[in-house]
Amino acid sequence: MLTCKQCGAQVEENMKHCTSCGAPMETPSQQKEQIDISEKLTQLNNTADTTAEYDAQDIEKNKVMAVLAYIIFLIPLLAAKDSKFARFHTNQGLVLFIGGILSSVIAAIPIIGWIIAPIAGIIITILAVIGIVNALGGKAKELPIIGKFKILK
Ligand SMILES: [Zn+2]
Repeated sequence: MLTCKQCGAQVEENMKHCTSCGAPMETPSQQKEQIDISEKLTQLNNTADTTAEYDAQDIEKNKVMAVLAYIIFLIPLLAAKDSKFARFHTNQGLVLFIGGILSSVIAAIPIIGWIIAPIAGIIITILAVIGIVNALGGKAKELPIIGKFKILK
C-alpha cells in the first residue's frame, strides 16, 4: 500500500491516482529519484571546510567584510587586507564577479548566449547567497563549483 501525499489515504500500489481524492500518486521509483536529487545537492555542497585554519577573533571581527565580499568585493579587498577570513570570501566573491562578467559577455551571443547567460546568472546568485550564509555563520567553507579557484594568494 502507498500513502497519498495529498490526503493521507491508503492506496493500492498499482493505482496512478489516489482513490480518495484523485491526486496523482508517486511511485516508489519517483520517490527514490527525489531522494537521489537531494543526496546529490548535499554532495555538491559537501566542499572543503577550512574554518579551523582561521583565527576566531579574525572571523568575529571581519564577518561583515566577508559578507561584503559577495556584494562589492573591492571594499574588503581594501579595508580588510590583513584579514585571512575576509580574503577567503573576497576570493570567492571575485570569482563570482568574473563569472558575472563572463556571463554578460556570453549573453551577447545570439540564442545560445540568451539561454546560457540567465542560467549562469541564477547559479552565480545562488552561490553568492550560499557564500553570504557561510560568511555570516563564520565559516570558511568552499563554494560548490567555483570554490577551487584561487585568484588571491
Ligand atoms: Zn488522496
